[in-house]
Amino acid sequence: MLFGILKEQDQRVSVTPELAKKFISEGHEVIYEKGAGESAFISDELYEGIGAKSKSREEVLSSSNVLITLDPLSKEDVAKLAEGTFLFSSFQPFQDASICEVYATKGISAFSFDMIPRTTIAQSMDILSSMASISGYKAVLKATDYLPRYMPMLSTAAGTVPPSKVLVMGAGVAGLQAIATAKRLGAQVEAFDTRAAAKEEVMSLGAKFVEVEGATDDTSAGGYAVEQTEEYKKRQAELIAQKVEKADVVITTAQLRGRPAPTLVTEEAVKTMKAGSVIVDLASSTGGNCALTKDKEVVRAHGVTIIGNSNLAADISEQASVLYSKNIQNYMKLFLTKEGFDFDFNDEIILQSCIVYKGDVVYGNEEKQKQLVPPAKVEESVEA
Ligand code: NAD
Repeated sequence: MLFGILKEQDQRVSVTPELAKKFISEGHEVIYEKGAGESAFISDELYEGIGAKSKSREEVLSSSNVLITLDPLSKEDVAKLAEGTFLFSSFQPFQDASICEVYATKGISAFSFDMIPRTTIAQSMDILSSMASISGYKAVLKATDYLPRYMPMLSTAAGTVPPSKVLVMGAGVAGLQAIATAKRLGAQVEAFDTRAAAKEEVMSLGAKFVEVEGATDDTSAGGYAVEQTEEYKKRQAELIAQKVEKADVVITTAQLRGRPAPTLVTEEAVKTMKAGSVIVDLASSTGGNCALTKDKEVVRAHGVTIIGNSNLAADISEQASVLYSKNIQNYMKLFLTKEGFDFDFNDEIILQSCIVYKGDVVYGNEEKQKQLVPPAKVEESVEA
């Protein structure tokens, strides 16, 4: 098979030379768009060194059998693909299922990394986790860039500097990494989450868990947060307002899969913050957790700097590319053979991540999914 690597819109690259080498060692070929890894500090020479060949973007699009990307290809790019191309990317069909229609053409198959179930066995393939973890780390460093104060407590000859107070909202993968990073920098950290399971994790990192009683049970939501009752939201808003007022840095990561992010920090709450304080909103791409967030922008409102960025992983481009590639390598072990792809749709990881198969939309269509799963083998009974 011919694997293609494209230059992405952000600084990362989806396939590192290490992964490309693996494909080649298994008997496949790799072509890459000139400068594909440049922003991740991976030179064309490194790709050439392992036997990959440089091509124009048009050639990569039109001749590859397999394209692995960070962002889904545009309609225009899809028009240039060969029949039967396999696409691997983060299509986020749960945000907008109509995206599948773009790929339901020319016998294309599309597999979405963000549909891989969040199970223990799939952890090594989980790009959502590896990218969220980087974002959480970078969110704290970003905040320190804008914060006109120290993070740690310091005793200096001129007097004692108090530690900064960091409030983390949403203690999933990104939030937990933000807590750990802020703790390492010496800040006083508090965090909260609607999921009951988050409490122990927050406390194990040495942060204080801010508890709002009466959260809706989320045990059947596959680990994701669920919408809360109006009563809970009211109590939560009151407590958040008290905590936000005292915080020097607020990092928000609260997301609801397939729905807009909940507004947790109102304009009124921002007004109560000390001038110079910073909010980093990692949920900005789905509407943001702060009412004043503007996605992909840094704004100043009521003396507070509000950074809206859901793609901070791209800022740590080299490491993010390496981890992304490792996740892909672990995922592809499930079906990549020397001869090509051998999909066993009995495997939930493969079945759930497949959103379009051979030009047919599978996402959200149980009937189509069932058709992919081969009937269980029936052992032939041996006549006595
Ligand atoms: P996410 O990005 O979907 O959301 C971030 C956090 O915001 C979550 O912890 C969520 O509970 C929280 N949140 C949502 N609404 C909130 C609100 N109104 N107030 C406060 N907090 C709110 O989450 P994620 O980091 O992708 O993790 C989702 C789940 O998947 C978690 O349960 C996590 O433990 C689990 N997970 C499992 C694996 C695995 O086993 N493969 C890997 C990573 C994550």
